[in-house]
Amino acid sequence: ASAKPAYQRILLKLSGEALMGDDAFGINRTTIERMVDEIIAVTELGVELAIVIGGGNIFRGVAGGSDGMDRATADYMGMLATVMNALALADAIERKHVTARVMSAISIDQVVEPYVRPKALQYLEEGKVVVFAAGTGNPFFTTDTAAALRGAEIGAELVLKATKVDGVYTADPFKDPTATRYSRLTFDEAMVKNLGIMDATAFALCRDQKLPIKVFSIVKPGALQRVILGEDEGTLVYA
Ligand code: UDP
Repeated sequence: ASAKPAYQRILLKLSGEALMGDDAFGINRTTIERMVDEIIAVTELGVELAIVIGGGNIFRGVAGGSDGMDRATADYMGMLATVMNALALADAIERKHVTARVMSAISIDQVVEPYVRPKALQYLEEGKVVVFAAGTGNPFFTTDTAAALRGAEIGAELVLKATKVDGVYTADPFKDPTATRYSRLTFDEAMVKNLGIMDATAFALCRDQKLPIKVFSIVKPGALQRVILGEDEGTLVYA
């Protein structure tokens, strides 16, 4: 018998940096292809998958703002950066013969279709990968918050927060060799211990909605698939 997924519908949050590989900025071809292979392995398990992609590899509003730009304008630039990443990601998915649809929170009608919730739900039911672009569509937010928001909207059972580390640790594992990984944590424990799981707005939304978060490594081969199969991979934050 083939392995059975522990979830039916999930939301994956990928940061822009995840597409960068070892480059200083932009999109690294080998990196995006490796990531898409991991993503496709999961869709092959029959899981409905939505993705929120960040833009930090291209532009970060906070940085633009601190350079003297109007913060809201800088944030809109950041959101546009996520649209570029979303197009690249969907393109890379489609090249491997899986259908992907980009939906943007900011209307750019000639380029991507707008986010319309029932349409997104329809695509997911049809087994298409949905890539949510332009974050929440609002300045002063992040794509982590967009992940929590869209995750709640589409009724995802889990928000997967992809990082470079395979979970949440008691200390920085790069600096402290005695650091150990938390397998599971409640939202309250994560808050008391002040563990930065996602930004505060995203965290609060997931906590209110009792939408669990799994922090896992996107660079560790097979980790995404193990998470979907319900194995002890990464760190689960739950209500
Ligand atoms: N952004 C925004 N509103 C949103 C999502 C993103 O203004 O709802 C802007 C913000 O400037 C942010 C940038 O887009 O810095 C890129 O998103 P983020 O930093 O979340 O990307 P990541 O760190 O995941 O690559």
